[in-house]
Amino acid sequence: MAYTVPKLEDYSAAALDKAVEELKAALYQEADAVSNENKWKEFRDRWMARKNGILTQINDLWLKAAPGSAKREVGARVNQLKTGVASIVEAKHALALNAPVTFTSQGIEIPRAKDWESFRKLATDPVLDITLPGIRRPLGAEHPVIKTMNEIVSVFRAMGYSVADGPEIETDYYNFESLNFPPNHPARDTQDTIFISGQEKKQQRDRLLLRTHTSPVQIHTMEKHPPPIRVVVPGKVHRADTADATHSPIFHQVEGLAVDTNITFCDLKGTLDHAMKALFGSSVKTRFYPSFFPFTEPSADVQITCFKCGGKGCRLCKMSGWIELLGCGMVDPNVFNFVESNGYDAEKVSGFAFGMGVERITMLKYGIDDIQLFYQGDVRFLEQFA
Ligand SMILES: [Zn+2]
Repeated sequence: MAYTVPKLEDYSAAALDKAVEELKAALYQEADAVSNENKWKEFRDRWMARKNGILTQINDLWLKAAPGSAKREVGARVNQLKTGVASIVEAKHALALNAPVTFTSQGIEIPRAKDWESFRKLATDPVLDITLPGIRRPLGAEHPVIKTMNEIVSVFRAMGYSVADGPEIETDYYNFESLNFPPNHPARDTQDTIFISGQEKKQQRDRLLLRTHTSPVQIHTMEKHPPPIRVVVPGKVHRADTADATHSPIFHQVEGLAVDTNITFCDLKGTLDHAMKALFGSSVKTRFYPSFFPFTEPSADVQITCFKCGGKGCRLCKMSGWIELLGCGMVDPNVFNFVESNGYDAEKVSGFAFGMGVERITMLKYGIDDIQLFYQGDVRFLEQFA
């Protein structure tokens, strides 16, 4: 006699177990009898049709009729059955088409079943209840640092910049020498560098290190492309810093470089002022403070009005009303000399460069006070940015 969904008089765990077992037994028995596509369609509709399918009936007769105190338990079982019935109906169809089936039960992946008999044997194994949903891998989301990096990059892309990248293992030449850090120059000491060992036999310029900034990509780009260029370089950099609330031996930068004829400091100011407004809101003001970088002359630090207090002074801006955000300057003619053969005649072209720390900007933007939170992989922290 064909299975009919019973009304439940008793909502105890034992009574529910019995009802579920009877339903599953009927499901497998009917699946056994399916021998062709048309029979399968009937089978599917009998169990899954929205109007009066067996799943709809258990929803009405079991869940909706359940007293308030039993609703939670009955609801959980009905949901499990919905998943289980759907996977068995699907599996029966796939196996009828000779497609092997893999499924999971309680997070355990069951070997691919080649036919209905072997599938049924695995599925009804008392240890593996396939009507229990498997473990679903949660969808990932962009890491806050990557998210900020992409935002910065897209601001410059909208201004016509292209995106470049370069190696994280660099030679001394690209990381320092060609950026106008001569050997033994004290400016090298400001970037605590992680050197790769066993390089003593090589000339200094060929020795390998982990890049301390994204600036070497300026040289790589100019070697590959004659002027004019406008490029942004997002990437990971390394310093021999001890990890604390504001330092990490690995962090991220976005570098920018524009070279053309007649590029002036005004172009640099206009570009960065626009970028800061795009990133932090149209009301922020920028100011440029004299600074020093070996590869730019003149060099400047860019400060923006505190986006928290609007310039009045608060804890974030240390009561100054201003926040220092990035370094920049006009490309030093000495840097062009290293790529002169590719059209960078310091007499004819000029340009500007800038670089910013992505973690620092992310921390300011979201009010995060410990850089280590970015690297600990704690989902409770990261999911706030999803
Ligand atoms: Zn402030």
